[in-house]
Amino acid sequence: MQGKVAVITGGASGIGKRTVERFLEEGGRAVVADIQDAAGERLCETLGPAARFVHCDVTREEEVAAAVALAESSWGRLDLMFNNAGRPGVPDPIETMPTEGWDATMAVLVRSVMLGIKHAAPVMTRQGSGAIVNTASVAGLIPGSTATAYSVAKSAVIQLTKCAALELAGHGIRVNCICPGVIATPIFGRSAGLPTQLDAKVAEEASRNAAAMHPIGREGRAEDIAEGVLYLADDRAGFVTGIALTIDGGLAAG
Ligand code: NAD
Repeated sequence: MQGKVAVITGGASGIGKRTVERFLEEGGRAVVADIQDAAGERLCETLGPAARFVHCDVTREEEVAAAVALAESSWGRLDLMFNNAGRPGVPDPIETMPTEGWDATMAVLVRSVMLGIKHAAPVMTRQGSGAIVNTASVAGLIPGSTATAYSVAKSAVIQLTKCAALELAGHGIRVNCICPGVIATPIFGRSAGLPTQLDAKVAEEASRNAAAMHPIGREGRAEDIAEGVLYLADDRAGFVTGIALTIDGGLAAG
């Protein structure tokens, strides 16, 4: 990642944070775009001048555009757009689905990815190169594995990835997504050494249940996913576009 520049949404926590750290360890520089200002600023202070934080709500087009602009004004280029920010969707079944909750889920998980691609693509087109990576989920591959709204949103991210890959291939831009299994991050309140809203006993049980879902026998870790993102961002993946890279300890294989 030497000399490369990234925008990483949802970079203040979990998968995004670990990807920021790994990207910088490999010699890159990154804009951390998130709504968690305190956590994002703290992370960037720790990492030094190769990381810059920007408050960015990924559902708001002007804020996504500003995050991309900050990368370009800071370091003159954009090599990786990691559209990763997310949160659990509304849990309801369709018959009792709150329409606003459905729309909010689609905005944070799908509109956000479209906006990230929309604003990264012109910069990468000018360069003639770039990699876009979107965070989908095994939930987007297996109906019924999680709540409907989340599953549908992640499935849309996979299709959006493929459509964008076809649209942008002629500009030297590769677009791929990752499908994580169950990863120990704060998103669903799980623990495994990370901050959680759940009490320790409940978190431990959630962690055990999650481990049992993966044939490999453990929960996923943020670094498992970060390594996949770095691969897709790397020139070694120069012939890879339009794929959904599943990193799930064998969950989706069963
Ligand atoms: P996380 O909660 O640790 O990180 C998510 C980050 O996204 C947080 O920093 C949060 O502030 C940020 N975010 C939420 N809404 C935002 C918004 N509107 N604008 C900007 N930032 C926003 O969780 P994570 O597990 O690291 O999640 C990262 C991605 O991975 C998400 O898209 C999630 O759906 C996906 N994912 C997670 C798992 C898992 O088991 N953890 C599995 C599959 C996919």
